[in-house]
Amino acid sequence: MLQDSFGRRFYYLRLSITDVCNFRCQYCLPDGYTCEHDRDFLTLAEIEKLAATFAQLGTEKIRITGGEPSLRKDLPDIIRRCKQTPGIKQVAITTNGFKLPEHLPAWLDAGLDAINISIDSLDPKQFQLITGHNKLATILTGIDQALAAPHLTVKVNTVLMRGFNGDHLAQFLAWVKDKPVSLRFIELMQTGDNATFFDQQHVSGDTIKQALLNQGWMPALKDKTAGPAQEFYHPEYAGKIGLIMPYSKDFCASCNRLRISSLGKLHLCLFAEQGHELRHLLANETATAIASEITALMADKKVSHFLQDRLTGATKHLAMLGG
Ligand code: SAM
Ligand code: SF4
Repeated sequence: MLQDSFGRRFYYLRLSITDVCNFRCQYCLPDGYTCEHDRDFLTLAEIEKLAATFAQLGTEKIRITGGEPSLRKDLPDIIRRCKQTPGIKQVAITTNGFKLPEHLPAWLDAGLDAINISIDSLDPKQFQLITGHNKLATILTGIDQALAAPHLTVKVNTVLMRGFNGDHLAQFLAWVKDKPVSLRFIELMQTGDNATFFDQQHVSGDTIKQALLNQGWMPALKDKTAGPAQEFYHPEYAGKIGLIMPYSKDFCASCNRLRISSLGKLHLCLFAEQGHELRHLLANETATAIASEITALMADKKVSHFLQDRLTGATKHLAMLGG
């Protein structure tokens, strides 16, 4: 099992397969995706080798992300290869879900275990204002289909923004009343490109937490291997609410994940100063040799991010790495 100098164990890999995205989320790619130079994203064979390597190191879960991962035509094959890797127990995806009803059957057929879909507003006009796309209805239909699929864990990610959804808690709660979905509010994070937007829009998850507690929501017990989300449940609601508060004290103490960029670099933290190049190793070395290089790199993992000091590392926006 991969372990760092602070005793944290890493059984979870976030694998970005592209940094291209078709949406223009205001906090991420407000001007849309721009291609600065040709990109040579990880191939299926490289992804297969990475999955085998990380499985050797004790990784049990792979989350496929981007950019928008569903823009890659070979996504079902990527899901299948990850899922068929001995040792990998769970394959998940994070997606904007713009064609979810069309894509879901092939993903399920490939063995997908869990899906996170991003929806920052349940108001179609505001959704369009945030993302640049009038796709809310399609995505909500896709979520209902995902909820009907047996054995698929469905979560919704909502980035908290003061001027957009900061006062929409009641609407979100009404939505999860009869839907067995886990809706997770994520505090807006500063990245290299979004400092002004961050200053205007960042709002702490504490306000939501207090409102939930006041309305009878209860904190769920956390498993030792659980990540940094705090979960809340309510006996009268089918859904759950999660809070991801990266600016809170000790957020990084439960870090259990590592990241690979779509160009094959290992990022020890979402906000690391740099990624570590693995691609030349993927071409020339065995999974066992690459695994020992990765183990050696773990000594470089820092105790936490330094977001509270406004240090965002090499991360210009989260489409680069997948969040
Ligand atoms: N395109 C896919 C999507 O939006 O679900 C996957 C990639 S996206 C970078 C992954 C998650 O990161 C999404 O839920 C998105 O809302 C979130 N995200 C992006 N930028 C963020 C930021 N600056 N702060 C907090 N969350 C962010
Ligand atoms: Fe695209 Fe996801 Fe970034 Fe929105 S958050 S622009 S959907 S990568």
